[in-house]
Amino acid sequence: MTAPLRQTYILVVFLLISLGISVFLLLDSPDYINESGASWIIKEKEARSRLLSIPILLYHNIDGTGPFSIDLGVIREHFQILKNKGIRVIPLTELINRLENPVPFDDRVVVITFDDGYYSMHTKLVPLVEEFGYPVTLFVYVDNINQKSRKMLSWDLLKQLDSKGIDIQCHTISHADLTRYSRKTDYASRRKLFEELYMSRRIMERNMGKEIQFFAFPYGKYDLEVVHFAELSGYRRVFSTDYGSNILTRNNYCLRRQHIKKSYTNAYIESLVE
Ligand SMILES: [Zn+2]
Repeated sequence: MTAPLRQTYILVVFLLISLGISVFLLLDSPDYINESGASWIIKEKEARSRLLSIPILLYHNIDGTGPFSIDLGVIREHFQILKNKGIRVIPLTELINRLENPVPFDDRVVVITFDDGYYSMHTKLVPLVEEFGYPVTLFVYVDNINQKSRKMLSWDLLKQLDSKGIDIQCHTISHADLTRYSRKTDYASRRKLFEELYMSRRIMERNMGKEIQFFAFPYGKYDLEVVHFAELSGYRRVFSTDYGSNILTRNNYCLRRQHIKKSYTNAYIESLVE
């Protein structure tokens, strides 16, 4: 083979191999690669935009014991951080309305929630939210409400709280870990889920005289079956303690909350809301 002929031969072989590789790449699920790549970029973009990515803070007791109770002075500092940074505290319903009709907020917003229904909600939280003018949501469980004890919230007190901008919502009857029952299919387990999710809502609606739309999982524990039961029970949205913010354009049924712990520094709180 002469030199020019060899060169032509090598070129043709090279072109054929290139063509073969191109056809293989084209046929080898190119749509999947392109689509997932594009949606990944969109998701990354969404997550970076604070006007679309909304944190929900979760507190428990105030001035109590244990890692989930935070002193009033510290919570006031957190509230002050939001004020200093011009971060607007919005009602939970405003966030859900925006999820269902996703338009970015004009400013940075945050939602504040409290779980369980400690008596400190009446003695400490009410003056605090009145001082700052912040709307908050309180998830209570029915067994934690007592008409007779002076150290526990009653339905009357909860109605007072509700009229002062503390939106009362549901957190089961007995604060049970619902995944203990969702894994089983026997009658007793199904009935327990029905009571904790559906009956709790009806009891609260009857006593509060308002519609209960939201549900928070005790201990943040849930699975697909629990979420399915919550949907059947008529809740508009449910709330976990999964780490992270909520992206408006994703319109998730199960929303994340940032669980605030005693050990968190103010710098860390700032990083969660900025
Ligand atoms: Zn709880």
